[in-house]
This record gives sequence, structure tokens and C-alpha cells, in this order.
Amino acid sequence: MHTPSTQARPSIYYNYQVFKPWLASQQGPQSKHKVVIVGAGPAGMVTALELARHGVPSVLVSADLQFSQGSRAIVFTRRSMEILQQVGVAHRITENGLPWRCGNSIYRGQKVFRMETPHDPDDRFFPMINIQQQYLEEYLHDACAANDLIDVRWGNKLVKAENIEGGVRAEIDTPEGPYTLETEWLVAADGGRSEIRSRMNLKLEGSSYESIFVIADIRIDLPYPTERLAFFDPDWNRGNTILMHREPHGIWRVDYQLPPGETPEEALRPESLKQRIDAQLKMIGFEGTPWEMDWNSVYSARTLTLPEYVHQRIVFTGDAAHLLPIFGVRGANTAFQDAQSLGWHLAFVLNGHAPEALMQNHSTERVGAAREIITEAGKSTRFMAPPSRGFRLLRDAVLSLSLTQEFVRPLYHWRTSRPHEYSHSKLNSPCDDNALFTGGPALGAPPQNLQLQHDDYLLDHLGGGFDLIYAANAQGVPSHIAQAVTELQQQGFPIKLIAISTEAQAMASAHITLHDPQQRFKHRYAVPIGGAYLFRPDQHICGRWLQLDAAGLKQSLLAACLQ
Ligand SMILES: Cc1cc2nc3c(=O)[nH]c(=O)nc-3n(C[C@H](O)[C@H](O)[C@H](O)COP(=O)(O)OP(=O)(O)OC[C@H]3O[C@@H](n4cnc5c(N)ncnc54)[C@H](O)[C@@H]3O)c2cc1C
Repeated sequence: MHTPSTQARPSIYYNYQVFKPWLASQQGPQSKHKVVIVGAGPAGMVTALELARHGVPSVLVSADLQFSQGSRAIVFTRRSMEILQQVGVAHRITENGLPWRCGNSIYRGQKVFRMETPHDPDDRFFPMINIQQQYLEEYLHDACAANDLIDVRWGNKLVKAENIEGGVRAEIDTPEGPYTLETEWLVAADGGRSEIRSRMNLKLEGSSYESIFVIADIRIDLPYPTERLAFFDPDWNRGNTILMHREPHGIWRVDYQLPPGETPEEALRPESLKQRIDAQLKMIGFEGTPWEMDWNSVYSARTLTLPEYVHQRIVFTGDAAHLLPIFGVRGANTAFQDAQSLGWHLAFVLNGHAPEALMQNHSTERVGAAREIITEAGKSTRFMAPPSRGFRLLRDAVLSLSLTQEFVRPLYHWRTSRPHEYSHSKLNSPCDDNALFTGGPALGAPPQNLQLQHDDYLLDHLGGGFDLIYAANAQGVPSHIAQAVTELQQQGFPIKLIAISTEAQAMASAHITLHDPQQRFKHRYAVPIGGAYLFRPDQHICGRWLQLDAAGLKQSLLAACLQ
């Protein structure tokens, strides 16, 4: 019998709510479900919300009765916020998080590199925003609980899952014993230690790094702005690296690398934690400033992925599918992109807009993304925690040269998580004008946001299916284009026609008219009047035309749905 803890997790700033377990005896008979999602972490909850946006119901099971312990992922990128906006929680993060865009690298007490990530007025969100993972999970859970299409089941632990004809049979253990449920698809979002992955004997591919970091969250009043601080080779921790990040509620994250050979047990002894945090505070000039510990843990970098995410009707996502280093903030930020991709691909299959083969495209695209991240993150990890004598020699040369030589300083760049471009996707239009464009996002690229009016941005209007944005003049959208969109809709394809124009009045043939008095879309997307962009449901570019023709549009949409 599964007996999750009913004791609220300890925290000095967050009140953990303990939810009641979902018990089968208090419910009606179970019919076969469309989707069961295992794990109510960021990946599982965003998948549930994405599916619901496409009208697909899901059952979301969590072994625990509360949100995860400790702050864990604390830095969320602009692209993550754009995805979270789509599922309705970005405003809560904006209200409560700490936005930032600068990072400082410090060596021997000298600031040797300052990274300033551009913040364009066309972007609704800052490059980064800090908030503890429990808050993110709370906001996502509130959105799931308020959605009739999502059945959240706390205290339900999946203990067995097997592919059967036309679906998956799952055994779920609860505080009153096990029950069985059947589902057409099962999403394994059960985290880095995925039991589903282990039971299916699936192997992650890639590398694990030996260096261990302590992650400690302390409450302290420090007069620094919200910027990333990275200290290399400091006096009190020679040869190693320390990171500091401000979090909401007066909390600071201090990550420090341990000397080789020290075990996590030794490192997490209270006296060891105290001595090192005091040493760090002394080094930055705040010796004796009172502080209080909230949470601590250890961490070591891994760059691992499954080579396939779709195994018949069981789909792996988030940390269950890959383990990525926290350097460059890749864990949860990658999970959101996985979940967004999975949500629309699976919904299109279940809603009959595409054959089951579309799921293979999801796997190919997201494994490709993980492999790109692994290459990028591997570089950051080798700089932060050199894995061999050669890498250390190289890194130390950069550190020491950076005191006087400008040209080596960019090597400190920490390569922040960025969305993968699906440049070679099978779904990209086979017959558009991509090659003729001189600017704007290319096929497979993520979208670029655009401020249209005060508090009105382009991406606010996209989502729920494919979006065709047509650059219109005063005559509006030509009737043959509007007719083509109507026909596609009649065939069941979720597609919306958005006219964008300098004209303020609504255009009858379009579902939405966007008023763009300064022709920002034309310039940022390098598209003339009569041209258009087709966005996929995850907002990546699917096709673009300098002059849109109805036949090309139809062919592109059919190709994007593998028809
Ligand atoms: C100690 C620690 C520190 C971290 N620090 C950072 C950081 O600083 N920056 C960063 O970007 N990322 C960090 N991460 C990673 C980040 O937390 C994850 O990348 C992110 O949570 C991934 O989300 P997920 O939904 O895939 O998995 P998880 O958040 O792990 O969620 C998995 C869910 O599955 C549930 N579950 C597991 N097994 C079962 C089962 N059998 N049945 C039902 N439910 C089950 C769990 O209860 C949990 O709700 C950290 C992770 C850890 C563990």
C-alpha cells in the first residue's frame, strides 16, 4: 500500500499544502482514459494544460501529496514564460518573480566578465525571471485544478505500466491499495529517477560529471540587485566555483563546488554548510550578517538523454526523458518545451488531425533539442567544473588571462538555455518562399514577439492550433486565401486566420485583426503586404511566403499534419 507523507515539508518561507489523496472507492467506475500523465512536476502539469487547450482530457497522477521539496529550478527564461503564458500562469510568475538580465563573473575579487542579455521592448518578458519551483508548481496546479479536462489525483503512485493492444494498462497504488486503469496513451513525466524508464530497462545516453555541487538556500538581506554572480577559484574554495542567485522572499541560492573526494554526507553536515557559507559571506564583505538555512541538497551535472521518447503508447518527457545540467538553467526550461511539443502532437493524433506517426516527429524533434542542449551545456559544465587536468589547465589559463586580456573574457559566457530550432523538421513547408526571405525567423525557428500596442503583443494572439498571419493592406485578406482557410477548417484542421495591418478596422474575412500602425511585423518578419507566416501550435515557424497562394498554404498544412 502506498502511504505518502502527510507531514508538510519544512520551509521558512513557503507553506506547503498537503492535499487529500484521490481514492478509487470514493469515485464512480473507471472507463478507458485518453491520456494518463504520471508525475505532477512542471513537465506533467504543462503537458496536461497543453492537452486541455486542444480539448483533450487527461488524468494526472502524483505519488506525493504536496509540491516538491526545496526551490530546485529557480531561473525561468523568456521562452518558458511565453509557453507558460499559453497555459495561463505567466502573469502569476511576473507578479511574484524577480526579473533580471545581467550576470557577473568574478575572479580573484575582480569582475572579469559582465554579460548583459538584450531586453528588446518587443519582448513581453524579461530574458530571465527567478522564482522558486514550489511557486511555479502551485500556479500550474491551480490552473490544472480549475480545468474540467484535468483530473488531478494526489497520492496515486504508478507501480506498473505495460503497452497493450491500442493503449497502456497501468497499476496505481494508493493509501487504500492499488487499482488498475487503462489509457490510450501514458505520459511518463515521473522525473529524473523515472521508475517507468527503469522498469522498461531503457538506458540514457551521454555523460555524467564527477564534480559535486552543494545547493543551499539561505534567508539573508544582501544589497545586491537580481543578477547572477559566479565566483571562480575564490580564496576559501581554491580551484572551485560558486554561484549566487537572488530568489523572492529574501532567499539567496548559494551553489558551491566541493573539493574532489568529499562525500555529499560530509558536505551536508550543518557545521560544514555553516563554515562554507560564512566563508563566502566573508569573501563578499558580509561577514557576520545573520542568515538562516532553508533547504540544501547536492547536485552533479549530467548530460544524458534517451535516444527515443516514444515507446509504443508510452511517451517520456521532462527529466524522465533526459537529465541536463543546471548550468545555463536547462532542467525545467527544457521540460516546458518538451511538454508544449508533446501536448500538441498528441492532441493532433487523438483528435484525428494527424496519423500516429506524428508522435515520431515529436520524439525526433525533442531528442534533437536535448542533444543540442547537451553539446552546449557540456561546454558550460566543463568551464564551471573542469572534468580533467587538461580542461582545468585550459580553464585556469582563461581565468588568469582574463585579469588583463579582454579577448578571453567572452569565454566566461554561460550559454543560457534557448529554444531549439526545428530547421530540419519534417513538418516544415515543402513549398514556401523560405529561401527568398532576407530576414525574420526561418522555417522551424521559434517566434519573435512584437509589441503592437501598450500591453498588446503578437504572441498574445497565437495558440490553440495553427495560426496564419497575413500581412494585409486596406483591401483586407484576398477571398481565395480566406476561402482556403475556411475549407481547411471544414476539413477539421484547427487553423486561425490573423490579418495584420496598419488599418485599425476589423477585417471581415479574418478571425482576428491586429492593428500594427508602425508596420513592426513587416520589419521584424521581413514580409511585404500579401506575404504571410504559418505558425505551428507550438508557435514555431511552419511556412512563410512573400506572396501567399492558397494552394501552397493547403499543401503546407497537410504536410505539417503528415497527410
Ligand atoms: C535537488 C534539485 C535541484 C535542482 N536545481 C535546479 C536548478 O537550480 N535549476 C534548474 O533549472 N533545474 C534544477 N533542478 C531540475 C528541475 O527541478 C527539473 O528539471 C524539473 O523539476 C523537471 O520537471 P519534471 O516534471 O520533468 O520532473 P519532476 O519535477 O522531478 O517531477 C516528477 C513528478 O513525478 C512524480 N512521480 C515520480 N514517480 C512517480 C510515480 N511512480 N507515480 C506517480 N508520480 C510519480 C513526483 O512526485 C513528481 O511530482 C533541480 C532538481 C533537483 C532534484
